[in-house]
Amino acid sequence: MTARAAARLAGIRPTVFTEMSALAARTGAINLGQGFPDVDGPASVVEAAVDALRGGRNQYAPGSGVPELREAIVEHQERHYGLRWDPGTEVTVATGATEGIAAAMLGLVDPGDEVVVLEPYYDSYTAMIQMAGGVRRPVTLRAPDFRVERGALEAAVGPRAKLLLVNSPHNPTGRVLDAQERSVIAEVAQAHDLVVVTDEVYEHLTFDEHRHVPLATLPGMAEHTLSISSAGKTFSFTGWKIGWVTGPAELVRAVEGAKQWLSFTSGAPLQPAIAHALRAEEGFHVALAAELAHKRDRLCAGLRELDVDVHIPQGTYFVLTDVRRYGHLDSRDFCLALPERAGVVAIPAQAFYDDLGEGRHLVRWAFCKDPDVIDAGIERLLAADLHA
Ligand code: PMP
Ligand code: GLN
Repeated sequence: MTARAAARLAGIRPTVFTEMSALAARTGAINLGQGFPDVDGPASVVEAAVDALRGGRNQYAPGSGVPELREAIVEHQERHYGLRWDPGTEVTVATGATEGIAAAMLGLVDPGDEVVVLEPYYDSYTAMIQMAGGVRRPVTLRAPDFRVERGALEAAVGPRAKLLLVNSPHNPTGRVLDAQERSVIAEVAQAHDLVVVTDEVYEHLTFDEHRHVPLATLPGMAEHTLSISSAGKTFSFTGWKIGWVTGPAELVRAVEGAKQWLSFTSGAPLQPAIAHALRAEEGFHVALAAELAHKRDRLCAGLRELDVDVHIPQGTYFVLTDVRRYGHLDSRDFCLALPERAGVVAIPAQAFYDDLGEGRHLVRWAFCKDPDVIDAGIERLLAADLHA
């Protein structure tokens, strides 16, 4: 950071995704790092966006989103989860989940407020907690199970705890919270009157018997919870940056209070296209999840051949490995050397930890890539000498 940068940015590193994708571009390495799919989402959704571009939907959309998208989001929440929100006051469209998270932190956290957050955490959380003046209180999910333990959660809730930020399905561990963890979180949140902000961007990308159940569906939780999601993962349009926040009007109002001064409004012609996706293309994410399960198996099998410990994910498109078997103690050093050693890029998961004892040696690999790309990546890794 430059000497002129504001103190609120002190210590916030450039996002690891930009750094690692730049490394892949510079070295020509296979990018198993940043999580974006190799194949775009449904053609009919692209057509709907083109129609909107040609059909005069090019001026500012309402700040909370175009009515048909807000209605489609509300229908989606009811259809999948039985949650009923008012499209006028209980949903707002954001420029990706990233802006939803930013606006939630800026709209709800006062300087000195404590934000309890599952660790490893998605990197925008820590940046936004800090920019809002909040204090992060991590609850570490520990290998090999990465479960939320009641004791750890309760210990993280201090007297100034205001907000609990939960991500499930969880990036980078691939965990999907189970019924017991969900009820522990709900009990602790209600006992301490916390606002719960849930990042559910991988809601439809779960495998085997694992299913995403929003915390807002638990008894008494709807009035405590803001649910955030995005079209990026569900419909493989990560570059469109159309996300949304649903929850009780009072909390959504706080998010909108901040969001109106960030982007004001998000890409107008993309919004009707995502409304169409939510209504007519749900088969896409069902097929995507099935396909990802195969890709997960393919990548995990390859990584196992490398003889590293592999933590099989239940959802998302990421898998964590422990690289200590190779004599590497530091995933950042490992990942920085990987393009030269093997022609592959991965993400050092230590970027998502305060507790380096838990995270220093973990590397995240993405499997939302073409199967040939995954195979080529594995082949390169198997051919390389990865020892420290
Ligand atoms: N949360 C998590 C856990 C993510 O992995 C990502 C990455 N897309 C985001 C939020 C950001 O979503 P969006 O691209 O919609 O801003
Ligand atoms: N969510 C994606 C990941 O975890 C990347 C998003 C980003 O680049 N900020 O890899």
